[in-house]
Amino acid sequence: MLEIEKLNVSVENKIILNDFSLKINPGEVHAVMGKNGAGKSSLAQAIIGNSNYSINSGKIKFNGSLINDLEINERALLGIFLAFQYPIEIPGVNNTYLLRSALNAKLKSEGKDEIDSFDFLKLIKTLMNKMNISDEFIHRSVNEGFSGGEKKKNEVLQMLLLEPKLCILDETDSGLDVDALKIVSNGVNELRDSERSFLIITHYKRLLELIKPDLVHVIANGTIVKTGNATLADELDKKGFDWV
Ligand code: ADP
Ligand code: MG
Repeated sequence: MLEIEKLNVSVENKIILNDFSLKINPGEVHAVMGKNGAGKSSLAQAIIGNSNYSINSGKIKFNGSLINDLEINERALLGIFLAFQYPIEIPGVNNTYLLRSALNAKLKSEGKDEIDSFDFLKLIKTLMNKMNISDEFIHRSVNEGFSGGEKKKNEVLQMLLLEPKLCILDETDSGLDVDALKIVSNGVNELRDSERSFLIITHYKRLLELIKPDLVHVIANGTIVKTGNATLADELDKKGFDWV
């Protein structure tokens, strides 16, 4: 599904990812771990197509097609989704209006009819219930005044609604209390199937105990320096990152 070949990415002329390669097959869950500043978020931003992150060389392929030069919205319509490490507040933009517009854009690109407001409200209320987000959030602006944990849950709500093919979660666990962590993990696990893949960026094995990854990668100096199975997360938890 995702194939990254020898990617070199820079931000403000500083090389962040160098000779970075990664392959994710349909249905796989990959965890990416690494120290602060290792380049984890830059990897996520490069995959989704944030233009601040310049691709100097290398390839990003999605389902066999090169996507290096696609715009963010084009990548989103292909089914790539990023839950931000730092979700932004968008005052004045109603949260459910944004969600409905995003869903309709997706339905339109698939040649389907738009969802009407009655059916949408029913659907979003079911998903909000699942995420333990109260109804009052229907009327609020995107992330405005949300607590850290509420913002993270709102990212996962977007994901549940859009049912992406490749879900990238950038430290979605940080800022979540134990209950919210379980709710988020349940949401992810419910979406797991043989066609959908996940790239989960995290510092902690806590999340990976609830969402069992197929592979765990460690990033350092802009590239993957170690790959292992789920037990690697335990090892990193005990020993830190320096030994890698
Ligand atoms: P991580 O997510 O692993 O903590 P990041 O990918 O956010 O790391 O950052 C990797 C490096 O790139 C850091 O040194 C960071 O300061 C730098 N960086 C990331 N984004 C920007 C940006 N927009 N402008 C300048 N430097 C950036
Ligand atoms: Mg980060």
